[in-house]
Amino acid sequence: MKMIGTEKMRVEDCEWFKDFVRMADDGYRMGWHERNGGNLSYRIKDREAKEVSDSFNASVWKPVGAQVPELAGEYFLITGTGKYFRNICIRPSDTLGIIEINPEGDSYRTVWGYVNGAEPTSELPTHLLNHQVKKRVSGGTYRVVYHAHPENIIALTFILPLSDEVFTRELWGMMTECPIVFPAGIGVVPWMVPGGSEIGLKTCELMEKYDAAVWAHHGMFATGVDFDLTFGLMHTIEKSAAILLKQMSTGRERLSAIDQDQFKELAERFRVTLDDRFIDQGLTERI
Ligand SMILES: [Zn+2]
Repeated sequence: MKMIGTEKMRVEDCEWFKDFVRMADDGYRMGWHERNGGNLSYRIKDREAKEVSDSFNASVWKPVGAQVPELAGEYFLITGTGKYFRNICIRPSDTLGIIEINPEGDSYRTVWGYVNGAEPTSELPTHLLNHQVKKRVSGGTYRVVYHAHPENIIALTFILPLSDEVFTRELWGMMTECPIVFPAGIGVVPWMVPGGSEIGLKTCELMEKYDAAVWAHHGMFATGVDFDLTFGLMHTIEKSAAILLKQMSTGRERLSAIDQDQFKELAERFRVTLDDRFIDQGLTERI
């Protein structure tokens, strides 16, 4: 006889899992995930992990490659190394896995997924270091870390000075919603070798104050409370970068721009605090 409430819940049937897959597919359709480019991770809520724990089958512990003691005992859904975003929606248990962090915060083990023997993304240290920072500074509300290769923001890293101030100031100035969507600004990481803890540590330094960081000549990391906010942040920044490039491509002078007083009006109306260092010099000043 079937007992109500005792059926095993499949990971694939959970709303948070479906939302993850949908976001990955949306990113692929945006053109941000050529080949095996990009990676995505979600810090699973305790209640959500308990609901599917009967499906877990733990493998051996392996080193994370970074110290993440504040994530001890946490579970993450995370894309696999070498996996293509375009395949996530059709082969989720092959392309994705759930990992558990050990009590010391220096090792992980796969408990679900990667059915054909994959491992988590090579950017695992950066993802976990970012999760650790965002969990702390947000009081535990941030759960999503997303890395993509949007072409317009990458193109800008070849023509703008690689500074938080210039990128934030220019992107805020392109679209009125930008200072409201990322009021703290965005950070810029100079070119570094990806896939290790060094670039992860540099990125998580920026994540102490920002929700997004550009990797010069490579891509971007965005973080957020949920999938909508994180995808929306990546999308907004990339769209603003596209407008900036279009505007620059015309070769024409800017005849108007959002001025300092208008930024102040925006901040008051939407109750956000905008850092003066991103607006002090005015957007009409040439770089
Ligand atoms: Zn990348």
